[in-house]
Amino acid sequence: MSAREESLTSGAIRTIDVIRRKRDGHELSPAEIAYLVRGYTRGEIPDYQISAWLMAALVRGLTRAETAALTDSMLHSGRILDLSEFTAAKVDKHSTGGVGDKTSLILAPLAAAGGLIVPMISGRALGHTGGTLDKLESIPGLRVDLSLTRFRRVLRACGCSMIGQTAEIAPADRKFYSLRDVTGTVESPQLICASIMSKKLAEGLDALVLDVKTGSGSFMKTEKDAVCLAELLVETSQRMGKKTVALVTDMDQPLGLRVGNSLEVEECVDILHGRGPQDLRDLALELAAWMFHLGGRAKTIPEGRDLADRLICSGQALETFCKMVSLQGGDPAAIEDPARLPRAKHRSAITSARSGYVSAIQCEDIGTACIVLGGGRETKEDRIDPSVGIVLNKKIGDRVSAGEPLCTLHHNSASRAAEARKLIERSFQVADAPPPPRSLIRSVIGKPNTLGTP
Ligand code: URA
Repeated sequence: MSAREESLTSGAIRTIDVIRRKRDGHELSPAEIAYLVRGYTRGEIPDYQISAWLMAALVRGLTRAETAALTDSMLHSGRILDLSEFTAAKVDKHSTGGVGDKTSLILAPLAAAGGLIVPMISGRALGHTGGTLDKLESIPGLRVDLSLTRFRRVLRACGCSMIGQTAEIAPADRKFYSLRDVTGTVESPQLICASIMSKKLAEGLDALVLDVKTGSGSFMKTEKDAVCLAELLVETSQRMGKKTVALVTDMDQPLGLRVGNSLEVEECVDILHGRGPQDLRDLALELAAWMFHLGGRAKTIPEGRDLADRLICSGQALETFCKMVSLQGGDPAAIEDPARLPRAKHRSAITSARSGYVSAIQCEDIGTACIVLGGGRETKEDRIDPSVGIVLNKKIGDRVSAGEPLCTLHHNSASRAAEARKLIERSFQVADAPPPPRSLIRSVIGKPNTLGTP
């Protein structure tokens, strides 16, 4: 029976009433939320009504009970994987989204090389932030829409696999996610929680490490809001019996130096070679350390960091990445020689008007500039250009002389580049004195109290 027929026969729930009740600030019942999720996932409630409900939910907020009901309904819109055939701990990591935020591509093979199973279900670009699936798809041939049978086969062969929400796993999130992306309804802690946890709880995990971003390039602009989101995520995950921690980390500037799909893959390959920018490497090692600790492979965080470092230095993490790419249909030659990844035709530098120190970067503008270049979507139908993006020449605290490049646009269209340039020119601030030093990792929420961690 369809959701509409069910509601007519029960006489209980009508979509318009659920929208109005949320608009007017009432708490919805689990049945009302389940009705919306089921009806939308089955295609029985149209986009325009769910858009209105999402906006009401964003503006009014959802209670803890509503958030739990939404997460539960979205989780049960599909199957929950049973990965009990794997004896090793199943551990994943998920970020709340940022600019140049690419650690998943490093962490999945790194954690798998260290003996964990990483069944990673990721998302596409959302708002001004990049998406793991779009980055992966810039590798020629690579598929992220694997059947569950093939997903298991890849997991068995190399310990990690990275796919998107499917018709079987978290189908509700697939629909809600792409609608939120184009309706200005991403920045709600409760909607973010339901979206992330419906994917992660479907993975059959033992443990989860969350990277909750804070700052101008994240959805939670203040640290206070990021901590609240981290607590909500940790509470939801721990209630479902998963060992969970959340690291609240800096997103006031892009992570690493590269923003844009194939550019970011190249930077991850650099890290897996033991090179690459320090902040990206530090964050990847810290997140990996937590994955190893929660997965029982390291007693302390410093021990986890050392293990991650050794797996990079020995080339095992890179080897696992190449194997996963190949098992998912991608061309491993593009990892061995990143010059084979898609490349934009043109480069154009944006230079500093004055000498001084970079004191701030409006990071959301950098993400938006990447979309403007064609590296993200403005409508659901847009096709992404995997080759375009922005390479930073300077980051916060760096000294810059007048006329020196702040960043370089990689583009395929002069008009798009001109629009992106306007955004970026206003996003870099240069001051006379260097800004105070900043910490990459702000806090850890849900931390077990046994650790030798700073
Ligand atoms: N990541 C997700 O999977 N969902 C969100 O809503 C935000 C970040």
